[in-house]
This record gives sequence, structure tokens and C-alpha cells, in this order.
Amino acid sequence: MTNRSFRPCLGLSDPLMNLGKCRENSLESHSGTAQNVAEARNETSGVQDKGRCIDPEYFALLERAITHRKDLTPAEVMELLTPPGPIEEIQLWQTAHQLRAATLGECVHLRAIIEFSNYCRQDCLYCGLRRSNSKVARYRMRPEEMVETTIKTHKLHSFGTYVLQSGEDPGYPLAELEHAVKQIKEATGAAVTLSTGEMTPEAYRALRAAGADRFLLKFETSDTELFQKLKPTTTLAHRLGCLASLRQLGYQIGSGIILGLTGQDLSIVAKDLLLCRDEGYEMVSIGPFIPHPDTPLGQYQMESGLSESLASNPAIDTNVRSTITTMAIARLLVPHAHMPATTALGVVGKHDESWKTITPFLRDARSLALAAGANVLMLDVTPARYKESYSIYPGKPQADGDIIGNSIEQAKEDIYALGMAVCPDRGDSPKPPWGRGNTHVKR
Ligand code: SF4
Repeated sequence: MTNRSFRPCLGLSDPLMNLGKCRENSLESHSGTAQNVAEARNETSGVQDKGRCIDPEYFALLERAITHRKDLTPAEVMELLTPPGPIEEIQLWQTAHQLRAATLGECVHLRAIIEFSNYCRQDCLYCGLRRSNSKVARYRMRPEEMVETTIKTHKLHSFGTYVLQSGEDPGYPLAELEHAVKQIKEATGAAVTLSTGEMTPEAYRALRAAGADRFLLKFETSDTELFQKLKPTTTLAHRLGCLASLRQLGYQIGSGIILGLTGQDLSIVAKDLLLCRDEGYEMVSIGPFIPHPDTPLGQYQMESGLSESLASNPAIDTNVRSTITTMAIARLLVPHAHMPATTALGVVGKHDESWKTITPFLRDARSLALAAGANVLMLDVTPARYKESYSIYPGKPQADGDIIGNSIEQAKEDIYALGMAVCPDRGDSPKPPWGRGNTHVKR
């Protein structure tokens, strides 16, 4: 994108377009008085454009993020992470949407996810599936059941991608997983994404040979010390090594972070985002942290109380706006990445409605994400009988495999309400060698 195509105001096709017109009304009607509007304006200084104001320094930084993203420093990313006021915040979101439209179009990819095993050998301090959590009823789906679920789902909607997710489960036979990948590809013609954690290079290779196209493995945090505290049974170096193996094998790679982890600060998040930029992941996920009561972090937060917990971690208040802002910056830094409007964000949006003061016309937090740089919605199609057992965090919508038809229709309605369409293709990365017209895909 050039300087010329960078527009400080909204394009007509922008789903946040109304903000440009009614931002002041929104602030006025939802914050109460005209004085609030004046105060919001006073939060910014500088450029006047027919009544709208934006901080010129923040605007210049946004422009630099578009034109010189590879040169951005951690300090500049930190500045981007803290927009001086709602006007800059909205400008950032709009810019992310424009960039997403320019690189990936305005449609939304629907992806179906099957959570096929909740066994995990790791002991991450924040996750409900950690091996020390004895309250979880563990399950494994047989490969036949995974294939059957996929075929049933595919009759309702031709998903372009099926995501097979599990904890790190060495007890799940590799041959059975390979079999499931092959069968699902044959039955649907869709892409298969795996999200099964840290494995050996040989296992990654075998699954790739079986037909797996993509792999999701979030590095969670790029800070070695914090990683070690939160994920004591593995190391950041090992995890990054796994990502390097996946890259070598020709997988399209998804990675990303959890935002708001205890001990995380803005400088760490800035470095996380720059790592995503430097690695050029094909998918980037920014999910808000939600403490699970049956984990050490959840216990800590409950014992210390919410306000104290936030006080110990003031830079990253995990709310909808901070998550959208971080995600929008990820869009600027990794323009071609697919980016989900995460389920966790939807959960946070049910409790935090502060975003409605500036975007009152959007249905929910995930819609806001789709209007601010995200372009993927994941639908959980795991059979309902496993519904309570895949509890990474509390409040997660329960698996709804038996009523998936309703979920699909709801997702479509939400997408159409944004003036967007459902993407008809598999949703491969637009980058070579996967991008359209390039068939040189390494198997
Ligand atoms: S975050 Fe992943 S690796 Fe860690 S305990 Fe949860 S499922 Fe296992």
C-alpha cells in the first residue's frame, strides 16, 4: 500500500464507515453530554478535517506503520498500542480494516474446528486442560468419529478448512491422526489445519505427508522468562524450534499470543507483535486472557481480587478495546495474515461493553474485530457430548456440534450485517507459494 492509497478517512465499503459520520453522536448519546464530546476532542490535538481531530504524531506513526512496517521499533509499536484517545483508536481500527480489505478482500472465512482430544502432557499455569487439573473428564475422539463429524458438518456448509485441535496428547496414535487427515481431505476437498502442540519433526513431517496444509502453534509470549513461568514444562526455544520445523516442511503457519497474561507488559506485547512481523506468519491470533478457576493463574486472580490483579498488571487490561487495538496493530505489521475474531474475545465482550460507547451499531465484539482487521470466524463443531470437557477457559461457548446448523446461520447473518460476504474458497495464504495461480506447493 502506498502513501497515496492510505486514507485518513473511511472508504465507502468500510463497515466502520458510520463511525466517521456518527462518532460524535455516539460519544454524545452514550457518554451523556456534549461536554464529553468536547473532552474527547480535547484529548487529541492538531489536524482539523471538517470537525474531526486526530493527533498528528499518532497519525504520522500510523502512516509509517503502513509504509515502513519493517522499520518500526519496539518503542513505536508501544506508542501505537496506546492511542491517545478514542478518535485515534478508531482511526487505527479503520486503517487495519482498509489494509485487510486491500490484502485479503472483504469476505470472511468460516472455519470449522473439531476438538478431538483434551489430554495434555503440559502444565501451563493458565489453561484448564493442564495435566494437573484433575477435575477435567478426559476424552479422545476416534478418527472415524472425527471423519463422520466432518462429513455431517460439510453437508450443512462447505467449510474451506477443518481445524483438528487437541491438547498435547502423545497417547493419540500418530497413524490414527494421519488417517483422519487423509480421510477428511478426501471426503471434503477442504484444507486441514492441525493444532496439536509441540511434536517431533518426524511427526510433523508424517502429518504433512498425510495432507495437512496448515498448523496453529501460538508462541504465547516472546519473553523467555515469562514463558518459563507460565509454561514450566517446555521452553520458548523449543517452541520456536517447532515453528521452524513447521516452516521447513512447508506448512502455512498460524501463531500468536495471549493478551493480558499476568506478568506481561506493553514492551513484551510490542516484541511479540514484532516477532509475528519478522516471522511473517500466515495466520496471527491475538486472544484475550481469561483466567480459568482451576488453574494457578485463575486461583491467583480470584484470591487477589480483580482490581488488585489489574493493579499488578496495569498496562494490559484485557478488555475488548485493548484486544482489538492489539489485533489492529498486528494487521498493520503482518498485512497478509489471516486473523481470527477469537471466541475468547466474544466471551470477554459479554462482560465488557465499553466498546459500545464508540461502536454502538455493531452486534458484538467479534463483529467489531471483523471490522477492524480480522477476517476469520471459527465455528466449533465438536459433538455436543464432549461439550463440557474442552474447557481451556471459562465461559467458552460450549461445543454445539448437534446444532451446528444454527451456528452457521448466525455466523452468516453477523457477517452480512457488516456488509461482508462469506469467502467461497479454502482460505489459503495469499502469499506464494500458496497464493492464487501458484501451484508450486511443497508436499
Ligand atoms: S495451553 Fe496447550 S499445551 Fe498448555 S496446558 Fe493448555 S492445551 Fe496443554
